[in-house]
Amino acid sequence: MIKILTVIGARPQFIKAAALSREFKKNAEISEIIVHTGQHFDANMSDIFFEQMDIPKPDYLLGIHGLNHGAMTGQMLEKIEEVLLIEKPDWVLVYGDTNSTLAGALSAKKLHIKVAHVEAGLRSFNMQMPEEINRILTDRISDILFCPTQTAIDNLKKEGFEHFDNRMILTGDVMQDAALFYTSKMQKPAFDVPEKYVLATIHRAENTDDLKRLSGILSAMRTIAETTSVVLPIHPRTSSIIKKNELDTGRILLIEPVGYLEMVYLLEHCQMVMTDSGGLQKEAFFFSKPCITLRDQTEWVELCDHNFNVLTGTDSSKIIDTFRHHRFAENFDLNLYGRGEACRNIVNQLSK
Ligand code: UDP
Repeated sequence: MIKILTVIGARPQFIKAAALSREFKKNAEISEIIVHTGQHFDANMSDIFFEQMDIPKPDYLLGIHGLNHGAMTGQMLEKIEEVLLIEKPDWVLVYGDTNSTLAGALSAKKLHIKVAHVEAGLRSFNMQMPEEINRILTDRISDILFCPTQTAIDNLKKEGFEHFDNRMILTGDVMQDAALFYTSKMQKPAFDVPEKYVLATIHRAENTDDLKRLSGILSAMRTIAETTSVVLPIHPRTSSIIKKNELDTGRILLIEPVGYLEMVYLLEHCQMVMTDSGGLQKEAFFFSKPCITLRDQTEWVELCDHNFNVLTGTDSSKIIDTFRHHRFAENFDLNLYGRGEACRNIVNQLSK
């Protein structure tokens, strides 16, 4: 029996873990223990994903949230280590680029437990981003690097990973697997969904913690919302900054964060996506929708290379101009992220 201990704590990790846990359940040789660090803890940022997507109940709930980066990562390290000493897993599995990812990988590595990193090799090349620091450090101490794209493999090779003691595997993207599986289960959200709308999200620290950037985005969305509905499921961090600074949101339709099944519905029916989220840029592509990315870099460069996605940064007129005039690619048939076999590839490798 192979014992895998999965560390998750934030919304995108719940979605990825849902897809992979389904695949683990099919393999009698694998048992999975789930540790939820508590980084996201609200009902609509955490519980709803476990309920809707049938993720196994966490075996350990660490309840760590609302702290600065150092304190949060430190407390996670301490508590995850305690769990690892009890459970003694064969593998610790971490996803993406959050503090939970880094703490999970580091606490395992120090105990000589093997680390598997899903979504390895992504780079924005912006070291101001906490996510970039987390992913670089996690990659370096991972024993197996599950890369979603060839770009991710190339990034690792450029950093010399071929000379390190690890395995790099091109798997495809687990979020593609999730999108394919959950599309048939999509749910209409409990508000009046406009007939034509832009689906928007804003949550990245570089945008929310910089009022100039946040104001640029909101100003563009307000203008667009005069003629086309803008549906914005609002992340708690963004919501509290908007309230605190009394920022004008005009006719933007602000809604509470929704579960993944509602999100899939909104993706399926929207006209365009406008976001600073990593996951949502890809989901726009999975659902054949153009995407405006409200950042200066993206880890998912292949979307821009093929004109499915345009990086506008946060300049209001650039966002509006791109929305009104840019001609995006229209044929979404390209295989950029696999065809839904990423989870199977990962399980095959872990069970070797
Ligand atoms: N998402 C969701 N409900 C929402 C907003 C986003 O289910 O109200 C999903 C979204 O579809 C994507 C994931 O959450 O799958 C992205 O998470 P987030 O934007 O928090 O993180 P990132 O992808 O930037 O790491």
